[in-house]
Amino acid sequence: DVSTLLANADMAMYRAKALGRNRISEYSADLGETAVARFEIEKGMRLGFENNEFHLYYQPKIEFSSGKMLGVEALIRWHHPTLGVVGPDRFIAIAESTNFILPLGKWVIEQACRQSKAWQDARLPRFSIAVNLSANQLADASLVQYVSDALRTSGADPSLIELEITETTIMKNLDEAVIRLQALRALGVRISIDDFGTGYSSLSYLKQLPVDILKVDRSFVKDLPHNRDDLAITRAVIAMAHGLSMKVVAEGVEEKCQFDSLRDEGCDEFQGFFCSPAMQTAELEALLRRHGVVIPPQS
Ligand code: C2E
Ligand code: MG
Ligand code: MG
Repeated sequence: DVSTLLANADMAMYRAKALGRNRISEYSADLGETAVARFEIEKGMRLGFENNEFHLYYQPKIEFSSGKMLGVEALIRWHHPTLGVVGPDRFIAIAESTNFILPLGKWVIEQACRQSKAWQDARLPRFSIAVNLSANQLADASLVQYVSDALRTSGADPSLIELEITETTIMKNLDEAVIRLQALRALGVRISIDDFGTGYSSLSYLKQLPVDILKVDRSFVKDLPHNRDDLAITRAVIAMAHGLSMKVVAEGVEEKCQFDSLRDEGCDEFQGFFCSPAMQTAELEALLRRHGVVIPPQS
């Protein structure tokens, strides 16, 4: 019937737009399923949030020179009652498109601050927690205030909190980003650029930004050390970051050869399955009890 035909054509059109516009896209049943799944997620998120189904997992970041865990990245997971553990790739983009990311992202910051304070009170070694920020959050005028409130009410040490922002997010409104990042940094938190090298980068923006850390995207790490282009890019990024007094963190290190190559190039820290995936609080605490901060590679 006409209404189904139009609804299906609409889905195909959205698919074409999502793939970058200016193309032909055909409807198929799995598109319909995707739309249904998307609707389920969109609808379920608010309820799941009220039912405390969202959890932060923590992935260690290790210093090459000492092998010590200097920090962790907080990565959100949704413990869905029927779907099981749902990763952020399945719901963050939807949360961004509906602005649900604003309450969710605020909770992530508050939770990370509380956790940092709890770990410090438990006399664990000092290590930082990095939190990912979405573009909607950076564009939100209340961001600086709620980060400040989260730090104050939790009693967390601001120097142990880090905010990760992608280049694409920054470039959406560079002037606003500079002002907001400066205000955040004035609170004592550190700022890192996530997925560096994959966005619309313009090198001139880097010197304007109050940034402490560059995170080299996994796509450059994946084929190290054999891919000469990736090696050249990684080497150049490390030299540039150090020249600008920034630290460099490599993402997605899975293999010993990638680890060796990045260490030899003078990269400061890494995270990845070579050392550890993201873990729940109790698991991370158990790992620290077992090994201290020098966590060995996974066998
Ligand atoms: P990201 O910030 O670049 O996080 C790194 C992602 O790479 C994580 O995926 C992590 O689990 C994965 N990863 C780490 N080591 C390895 C490795 O060795 N190999 C491979 N293949 N993957 C590795 P995850 O947890 O699925 O997160 C995906 C993205 O979702 C994150 O990318 C981040 O952009 C976003 N995200 C996660 N948590 C939050 C959050 O609380 N708020 C916002 N706004 N975004 C979040
Ligand atoms: Mg990140
Ligand atoms: Mg990243």
